[in-house]
Amino acid sequence: MRRVLVPAAVAAAVLIAFVPASPAVAAPQRKVPVAEGYGGAVATVDLDASKAAISVLRKGGNAVDAAVAAGAVLGVTEPFSAGLTGGGFMVYYDARKRKVYTIDGRETAPRAMTSTSFEGIPFEEGVTSGLSAGVPGTLANWDLALRRFGTISLKEALKPAITVASRGFVVDQTFHDQTAANQDRFQDFTSTAELYLPNGAPPPVGSVFRNPDLANTYRELSRRGIGWLYGGQLGKEVVATVKQPPLSPGVTRNVRPGLMELSDLRDYRALLREPTKVDYHGMDVYGMAPPSSGGSTVGEALNILDALPQVGLHEYLEASRLAFADRGAYVGDIPGVPLDELLSDGFAKERACLIGDRAMAHPAAPGDPDGSYGPCAEPTGSATPIADEGPETTHMVVADRWGNVIAYNLTIESTGGNGIVVPGRGVLLNNELTDFTFGPAPGDPNLPGPGKRPRSSMAPTLVFKHGKPVLAVGSPGGSTIITTVLQILVNRYEFGMNLPDALAAPRATQRNTAQTQAEQAFLDQHQAELEAKGHSFALNPEIGAATALEFTGRGRIQAVAEPVRRGGGSALVVRP
Ligand code: GLU
Repeated sequence: MRRVLVPAAVAAAVLIAFVPASPAVAAPQRKVPVAEGYGGAVATVDLDASKAAISVLRKGGNAVDAAVAAGAVLGVTEPFSAGLTGGGFMVYYDARKRKVYTIDGRETAPRAMTSTSFEGIPFEEGVTSGLSAGVPGTLANWDLALRRFGTISLKEALKPAITVASRGFVVDQTFHDQTAANQDRFQDFTSTAELYLPNGAPPPVGSVFRNPDLANTYRELSRRGIGWLYGGQLGKEVVATVKQPPLSPGVTRNVRPGLMELSDLRDYRALLREPTKVDYHGMDVYGMAPPSSGGSTVGEALNILDALPQVGLHEYLEASRLAFADRGAYVGDIPGVPLDELLSDGFAKERACLIGDRAMAHPAAPGDPDGSYGPCAEPTGSATPIADEGPETTHMVVADRWGNVIAYNLTIESTGGNGIVVPGRGVLLNNELTDFTFGPAPGDPNLPGPGKRPRSSMAPTLVFKHGKPVLAVGSPGGSTIITTVLQILVNRYEFGMNLPDALAAPRATQRNTAQTQAEQAFLDQHQAELEAKGHSFALNPEIGAATALEFTGRGRIQAVAEPVRRGGGSALVVRP
C-alpha cells in the first residue's frame, strides 16, 4: 500500500506534475561536471540519469523519487555498474522530519550458503559464476524508498528508464571500453553476447544502443509490482539463470552454479537502519552502518583526524590505514559489531596517538575498541589482509526544493556483475557475494553465511552544520570508496578547497596496504615529500568517480561530478 501521508507542499506540487518544463530551462545536451542554482540539484555519472532526476524534480517529485528514477536509468545506460538485480545503500535526510534515514538494499547470500561455500575457489572463478550472485536488493530498495519517503509510484519512477531503454542512448567511450574489457566472459553466455556483443563485438562509440528487453522488464514491473521478482515469474527466471547459466557452445571457463532458491527471493527485505554519526570539526557526519563498512571507516578516520593537532596528507594516509585495520577486524554483517566504540572519541584518541612523523610499520594492527582507553596503547591484534577491488559501482546525490537530500550508492559489484544476463530480460546479475572473505579465515567477520550480507565499502555520506545539511558525497571504487570520500572531506574541510577542486584533486588510497596506491598526478605532486616520511607508492591510474553537492547558502546548491575520471559526470540543477 502506498502511504497517504503527504505534506501539503508536496501534494500541491504533485498536482502540477504534468505541466511541461519550459524550454528555457531544458537540460543541456552535454555533460557538465558542475552546476549551481536553486530548486533542486543532481549529480550522477550520466547525462540521461541526471536529466531523469531533474525532470522528476521539476514535475514536483522529491529527492527520493528523483533518485529512484535516475537509478533506473543508470540500469540502462550504466548497466555494468548498476541494475535492479544489484544492491545498494541510500542515506537520506528528510527535511520535514529533520532526521537522517538509511536504507540497506544490500544483496543477501542464499539460505544454503555456508562459511565454506567459497573456500578453495579461485577468486576469478567466483567472479563469473552463479555462485556469486546475491539475492537482489535494488528493486526492493527502490520500492521501500518510494513507499516510505517518496511521492510517486514505482510505475512513474520507471518511466524515464523505459523511454531511454527503448529509444536508446548513444554509446560513449566508457560504455564501449567497459564492454570490451568484458568481451571474453560476455561471449561465454548466449544471453549476454546477444545483448552486449551485437555483431560479435562491443557496440561502437557513437552508435545508438537499445535494450528493449529491459524496457519490457521495467514495464512488467510497473504492472505487476516487485513481487514479480520476489517470488514471481521474473524471480523464477533469475533462479534458473543462477542455477544453470546460459553457456555458449564454446565456453572458455568453469562456471559454477549458484545456490539461490525462489524462497530466498521471497524472503528478501530492504531494511531501514540507523545511520552512523560522528562529530567532525563541530559538524555531524552521517553514513552507512554495517553491513557497509563505509560509515564506520570514514567516521573513525575523521575522528582520528579530529584528534590530531594538524592534518596534512601524511595524517590523512595514516588515519585511513588505522581505520582500515579496524574495519578488517571488526566490521561485517554480524551481531555485536562494536560500532559505538569504533566511533567513540576515546578510541579515536588512542588510535591517533600512534601517528607520528613517519609512516607506521606495515601492517597496522587493529586497536581494542573495548571502552577503556589509555593515552597511547600499542595494539596487539593481527591485521587482516585487504583484497584489491576495482573501479565498479556508481553513486549519485540529489537535493530537492524542500531541502531533502539523498546520497545513493548502487552496484552489481564487478564492472559487468557476474557477466550473466537473465535471458530475455535485458539485465545482468550481480556478483556481490565475492565481497565475502573466501576463507579459510577463522574469526573473520566477513565470512559468508546463510542470509548474510557481504561487507560493503559503499559510503554515501551527508554532512550537517548546526543541524542543517551542508554537503553530500559518495563514490564508486570498491574499498577505495572509503578513501575517496575521506579524501574529498579532507580536501574540503582540512585544506579548504572548494567542492569542485576537492573532487578533481589527484587521489591516493591507503587501506592498510604496504604501498599506498595513487594517481599519477598525486605522485607528481606529493610522492617525494611523502616518501621522505616513509610512505611508499604504487600507481593506480584512476581512483573513484565521485559525485557530491553542497548547500552554499540562501537556498543555492552546487552539484558536482567528476570533470575527467570515468569520462566525467553530469551535474544539473532545477533553476540555474
Ligand atoms: N561491492 C562493492 C562494495 O560494496 C561495490 C562495488 C565496487 O565499487 O567495487 O563495496
